[in-house]
Amino acid sequence: MSQLKLLYEEVQTCQRCILAQGRTHAVPGEGPENAGIMFIGEGPGFHEDRQGRPFVGAAGQYLEELLGRIGLRRADVYIANVIKCRPPGNRDPEPEEVEACRPYLDRQIELIRPRVVVTLGRFSMARYFPGASISRIHGQPKRVAGVIYFPMFHPAAALHQPKWRSVVEEDFLKLPGLLAKLEEVREEKPEPPQAEQLSLF
Ligand code: URA
Repeated sequence: MSQLKLLYEEVQTCQRCILAQGRTHAVPGEGPENAGIMFIGEGPGFHEDRQGRPFVGAAGQYLEELLGRIGLRRADVYIANVIKCRPPGNRDPEPEEVEACRPYLDRQIELIRPRVVVTLGRFSMARYFPGASISRIHGQPKRVAGVIYFPMFHPAAALHQPKWRSVVEEDFLKLPGLLAKLEEVREEKPEPPQAEQLSLF
């Protein structure tokens, strides 16, 4: 079994914080183990808790629609959350709940090694842009150790407040450009010669 699948099992039986008591299912995250882009939301809501999968409610449908607009499918990207269990009544996660869950997300990132991390909403932004205000920095990528971190409003914000919709959509449309930049860098790197080619010399 892969390290990631083992991690999912650990998350599914986790008792590190009080949220374990109220969950139907923990929601570890999903997507290809070699995904180039990782989206990080806040935490499971009602539907995610029922199904054990991230972003399967209205915000998830909207995220899929946004992905479609840039030529990606849900199955092409990795989707995770800062916390893996639904807080009662969908309240904001408490700092100790975020801390208890931190090692799980850290390990997911270590295993998947995405090249672009898109933070959706305040809680995942706070992790990579401490002290920042989302209304100031949304849509502005930063690069750290070869990984691009891209802060966005949460798609649910656009669903609840139509004034954020165009902001979310404009920010999302910047993603293909970021990905293309990464491809350029990759192309410039010479490929190591194949074993067969070496035997020619
Ligand atoms: N909102 C989130 O932040 N995560 C989900 O998985 C669903 C909705």
